[in-house]
Amino acid sequence: MATRCWRWWHWSAWPRTRPPPAGSTPSFHRQFSTQEQTPQICVVGSGPAGFYTAQHLLKHHPRAHVDLYEKQLVPFGLVRFGVAPDHPEVKNVVNTFTQTARSQRCAFHGNVVVGRDVAVAELREAYHAVVLSYGAEAHRALGIPGEELPGVLSARAFVGWYNGLPENRELAPDLSCDTAVILGQGNVALDVARILLSPAEHLEKTDITEAALAALRQSRVKTVWIVGRRGPLQVAFTIKELREMIQLPGTRPVLDSADFLGLQDTIKEAPRPRRRLTELLLRTATEKPAAEEAARWASAPRAWGLRFFRSPQQVLPSPGGDRAAGIRLAVTRLEGIGETARAVPTGDTEDLPCGLVLSSVGYKSCPIDPTVPFDPKLGVIPNTEGRVVDVPGLYCSGWVKRGPTGVIATTMTDSFLTGQTLLRDLQAGLLPSGPRPGYAAIEALLSRRGIQPISFSDWEKLDAAEVSRGQAAGKPREKLLDPQEMLRLLGR
Ligand SMILES: Cc1cc2nc3c(=O)[nH]c(=O)nc-3n(C[C@H](O)[C@H](O)[C@H](O)COP(=O)(O)OP(=O)(O)OC[C@H]3O[C@@H](n4cnc5c(N)ncnc54)[C@H](O)[C@@H]3O)c2cc1C
Repeated sequence: MATRCWRWWHWSAWPRTRPPPAGSTPSFHRQFSTQEQTPQICVVGSGPAGFYTAQHLLKHHPRAHVDLYEKQLVPFGLVRFGVAPDHPEVKNVVNTFTQTARSQRCAFHGNVVVGRDVAVAELREAYHAVVLSYGAEAHRALGIPGEELPGVLSARAFVGWYNGLPENRELAPDLSCDTAVILGQGNVALDVARILLSPAEHLEKTDITEAALAALRQSRVKTVWIVGRRGPLQVAFTIKELREMIQLPGTRPVLDSADFLGLQDTIKEAPRPRRRLTELLLRTATEKPAAEEAARWASAPRAWGLRFFRSPQQVLPSPGGDRAAGIRLAVTRLEGIGETARAVPTGDTEDLPCGLVLSSVGYKSCPIDPTVPFDPKLGVIPNTEGRVVDVPGLYCSGWVKRGPTGVIATTMTDSFLTGQTLLRDLQAGLLPSGPRPGYAAIEALLSRRGIQPISFSDWEKLDAAEVSRGQAAGKPREKLLDPQEMLRLLGR
């Protein structure tokens, strides 16, 4: 099992990413003289980190040109392929990204896998600076026997499946079982539990894929256990997502009040977000619900529950050995207190029958190019304030810079900081002088290699096609899932 529990956000993560102090990026009129050349900058990855870095550079330098390279055919990274379909308000950030992409000084080049179609060294040749913002795409394996059995999936693949990530479109999870277990207690775990248990009519008007919606309509999953190695004080999800679970129609929460003994006193000293979250958990676990809620819970056909102090030890096979039928959990106890408390096995185990195991114990970045330093232990590119160590002119932002924690707002702050560092280095003369060819050089390389990039106006055509396909069903869009079909639509 991974040693670090993954989380998007928790309070101890905040001090690591402070917003740039007000006025710390002087206006470009003072900073860059009009006689200067056009800085050619490229950004690898078009998720929030890539777009926010580009936005900062364009806003604070009057002539900088930014090219965004993206391996998918479409932009926006996890805003499209991660954020849950029933959270459309979160996706509004794409409006800002679209404005950035439409700038005369910005260009999007999708369908280009950096590290395969073009090397980072080639980008560094062509540009004054290169920013790596390619996220944290690999899923952390559980490292336990039986992990390869059918019925065991990464939450990441499951999310990719309902969100239309092309590589996950054939996932076809078997939802014919009664019980699903999700390993990990972060917001992704709650997203997945919520999607599994939501009444189908709640998802009908979202941009969930039609195939996933059809499978969810047929689903027989009635119980979802969300399992964590540590206790209620260490959960990594946030209060908004927990509240949504508690209020999810047709479901009732199953919490063991014994898990919460003595917490009331312990949390008094905790920072406010942690205190409020724990209080909500405590109330739900220990207080008698109001009449209306009690009636709703009593008639609920589906249930979800939190299991604490349990670490996955083995996926148990069905009698024929052909699929998962349960999970053996090691009972743990905590050593230490608060965020840093460690779960250690007590020697006891518990077997939990289930037909679906979804692991949501974290993400990690991977190296994409041998010339870029990489910290395999932390799973990030080693950097100081966004400058990749020992490689002048190379920067990073987002999850590949600080690890897979933090919501979009956290990613925005850290991407602005990287943009600011880069512009300071440019002003201080630390980036290569003289003109650079930028995309002209890369376009020639790609064309020799048979790669046909997707421009932002190509994306806008695909976007329009998706929106029009969704119209009949009253959905914001029906996502295109097949890259070949997308290319055909663009006349390729
Ligand atoms: C399932 C899930 C749900 C989430 N829900 C929310 C939410 O509701 N609200 C919220 O605020 N935050 C949410 N988050 C967190 C949020 O998505 C992240 O904070 C943010 O996306 C990180 O941005 P990024 O740009 O670093 O990474 P990403 O969004 O992953 O973007 C990286 C981009 O780089 C591209 N790329 C990768 N490799 C290459 C390569 N070799 N060449 C070219 N391009 C490449 C990828 O295709 C991708 O487009 C969620 C995260 C997950 C995993």
